[in-house]
Amino acid sequence: MHILIVEDEPELSSLLAEYLANAGFESECIAHGDTASQWLSQHQTDLVVLDLMLPGKDGLTICRELRQHSRIPVIMATAKVEEIDRLLGLEIGADDYICKPYSPREVVARIKAVLRRVHWPEENKPIVVDTEKLQVILQGKHVEFTAVEMRLFELLYREPGKIFSRQYIMDHIYTDYRVVSDRTVDSHVKKLRKKLHEAAPDLDLIHSIYGAGYKFEYQDV
Ligand code: CA
Repeated sequence: MHILIVEDEPELSSLLAEYLANAGFESECIAHGDTASQWLSQHQTDLVVLDLMLPGKDGLTICRELRQHSRIPVIMATAKVEEIDRLLGLEIGADDYICKPYSPREVVARIKAVLRRVHWPEENKPIVVDTEKLQVILQGKHVEFTAVEMRLFELLYREPGKIFSRQYIMDHIYTDYRVVSDRTVDSHVKKLRKKLHEAAPDLDLIHSIYGAGYKFEYQDV
């Protein structure tokens, strides 16, 4: 597997390249936005780690351009956690977001998770969803949900990897807004996770993204 690292801090990109090499990945580091954009139009890679602030074209522009012709996974790196919310709103099509300063170990784990998601064939997914019966069959085990839990699960599950903010979740899964707060969402997520974990302790499916919200993603524990 080949990873393109677009990053204008050389110490950071070479450190990440080193970790990637140890994990068995090949990689290429590019420090300038224009060069990255040109490289992507001429070469193949399996995933791009893309810094937001770059000399030349910024990460946002590069990602948008790339999405016009390619579904290559993109992990966007940003220096501000608040930026992630804004980027989510822009729907630029990145597959994951990571906040700097990051640990290269964490980035490698995220890269593996994104690649697994992209390459996991639909028929092998160990999950069957039955919205009418309010149940999910996870690795052969039946998990019963309440109506709200089912709506929450479906929302996240239908778009794996997409991060949903608490506000978005509040607006979309509850019928009575008056009783809902951030804490209500957190508590429903907690219940959902507990049920899923009881059925499949070796799978981690619902993830909380610090400062941003929640997402569904297959990860082995
Ligand atoms: Ca930068």
